[in-house]
Amino acid sequence: MRKRYRKKREFFAFVIAGGIIFLSNIVINFSTELRSLWEQDAQINIDLDIKESMQVHFLDVGQGLSILVELGDEVLIYDGGGRDTSSFVVAYLQEQGITEIDYLISSHYDADHVSGLIGCLYAFDVKNVIGSDYVHDSKLYTSFQNAVAKEGETVRHPSVGTKYPFGEAVITILAPAEIMDDSNANSVAIKLSYGESDFIFTGDADYYSESAMIASGMDLDCEVLSVGHHGSSDSTSEAFLEATSPEYAVISCGKDNDYGHPHKEVVELLNEYQVEILRNDELGTIIMETDGAVIYTAKSICCTVPEFPFS
Ligand SMILES: [Zn+2]
Repeated sequence: MRKRYRKKREFFAFVIAGGIIFLSNIVINFSTELRSLWEQDAQINIDLDIKESMQVHFLDVGQGLSILVELGDEVLIYDGGGRDTSSFVVAYLQEQGITEIDYLISSHYDADHVSGLIGCLYAFDVKNVIGSDYVHDSKLYTSFQNAVAKEGETVRHPSVGTKYPFGEAVITILAPAEIMDDSNANSVAIKLSYGESDFIFTGDADYYSESAMIASGMDLDCEVLSVGHHGSSDSTSEAFLEATSPEYAVISCGKDNDYGHPHKEVVELLNEYQVEILRNDELGTIIMETDGAVIYTAKSICCTVPEFPFS
């Protein structure tokens, strides 16, 4: 091992969270095995003093990315997955009782990230839209811009270091430092900090963008890293992993996807650094919950994207 992995002060535990309740409504044959996992992990939860908790849902959108965050009444969605799962994302938010989205963040305008956001713009009252400052030559890009305009909003392009309040949490813009020809490299990356719990989402940011984030001198330390570009080997450099030093790495990719994501090198590197890997293609939707000190993880549930509407 090249670098001894730094132990954190925080204490971590695992528990299955609200997703079970959500999906138990739709999975008819909820297995005994999963039930017992819920009961076992729920036991851990009982002894802990949870204040207002923040839930981070890594939605199972197959080969794409969509992350929903809820803190009290505040709602943030970072990417909305691809076309096939757009209605799933909208329905998932509706199931959570969401009517308003405080921050809708588009990492970049590739179809597997932006499609579901268009559905969200039409389905919910959206207050702030943040996106990358480049023009993508695609119908989806135009649809996204039209949907934002219909909402009476414009897409903000905050510079690196900009902070936004999210309830008691803080969103910090980490990237992009500059606009490149490659759309992935233009991904808006954010750090979401709630108490001592930090989450970093980098969309499909590549090594180059990761280097710029490190060079910015910003504090990149986090507990949970949404692994860049679905676990592709053009993201998650060793230097970036050292700078972020996550406890958990969440990889959103499709089962048996055509790209071979996550790439072997990335998985090996995460293992070398003793980062716990949670994959949407293996676990389905992954839900984490934190009171600002402790992070609980819902290791999911089912491995298929449910069909909506429910019947
Ligand atoms: Zn992607």
